[in-house]
Amino acid sequence: TTETYEATTLRLPADVLASPTDHRVLTGDRPTGRLHVGHYFGSLQNRVRLQNQGVDVFVLVADYQVITDRDITAGIDEVVTDVVLDYLATGLDPDRSTVFAHSAVPALNQLMLPFLSLVSTGELSRNPTVKEEIQAGGRETVSGLMLTYPVHQAADILFCHADLVPVGDDQLPHLELTRDIARRFNDRYAPIFTAPEALLSHAPRLKGLDGRGKMGKSRGNSIPLSATADETTALIRSAVTDSQRRITYDPPNRPEVSNLVLLAALCRGEAPEAVAESIGDGGASALKRLTTEAVNDFFAPMRRRRREFETDRGIVTRILERGNARANEIADATLAEVRIAMGTRY
Ligand code: ATP
Ligand code: MG
Repeated sequence: TTETYEATTLRLPADVLASPTDHRVLTGDRPTGRLHVGHYFGSLQNRVRLQNQGVDVFVLVADYQVITDRDITAGIDEVVTDVVLDYLATGLDPDRSTVFAHSAVPALNQLMLPFLSLVSTGELSRNPTVKEEIQAGGRETVSGLMLTYPVHQAADILFCHADLVPVGDDQLPHLELTRDIARRFNDRYAPIFTAPEALLSHAPRLKGLDGRGKMGKSRGNSIPLSATADETTALIRSAVTDSQRRITYDPPNRPEVSNLVLLAALCRGEAPEAVAESIGDGGASALKRLTTEAVNDFFAPMRRRRREFETDRGIVTRILERGNARANEIADATLAEVRIAMGTRY
């Protein structure tokens, strides 16, 4: 089923497939918890596929982005380790891809400064994803970093001249800002930066099990990639659905049911309409049974692989040391170019 599934769920642009080595990918995740099935179908699967095609893939563990909306970073090393183990489980290969941590590449912060001068406060405060995150976070005050992290993210993407960014659709406003920053810098100083394209999957925004907005690791509504089969069963049993017997795939009118149908379809490599049809009048319980089985079957090999990697957590340190070194080398070179372009030689 893997082949059908890849054919039906992956969208790789033709020019990338034609000359993979001419492209570079950058994308990343906040180490705020274990990665979930929304990450997998929204972005991770495309990263691994691009890597396997021969594209140079950079994956960033965005540790500085954790403090946009949290006070403490105690225990963050454990979460970083978990995220990197999730990468390995899904097939990201550290011999072919570069995995690095935000906080280990200081040149990114220096790039952020000129980039901040290229955007207006209006652009920052109007960003729809930032607004949504502020609302979902429910905190009384909003940090300056919350408003400016999309500019930091622009530095993450632009420093290595990535042209392709596999992401969920919450990232589209940030990609647009990144493109604006690249163009504005190039116009004002010198043509250094590439304006990157977002690469969306067929599941650009998987919903949470609570049926309220996107599945998110900070929202307590996700199925972690590393959940056991039993945990997955319990999570899906708790999912919000509706009381109609007939199961249909109708996202605008039945978002919760359609989300489970979509998840099952992604795992089975089938069209969501066909999955709904096969359940027929079975109601929510049949839908949940089928979805649970599909998720557990599909992720079983990754979960097995993850448990093997878990026995050698030192592997994560070695991967990040290597990735940080490569990212620093490239970031320092880009920063040197930027300083020359801006005339700040001393
Ligand atoms: P947090 O709630 O802590 O922000 P998150 O689940 O939103 O966590 P991020 O680390 O912010 O995860 O996002 C990492 C990547 O995964 C981004 O490219 C994002 O677009 C993508 N992504 C996150 N959630 C989903 C989802 N529900 N469906 C599809 N893609 C997603
Ligand atoms: Mg997020």
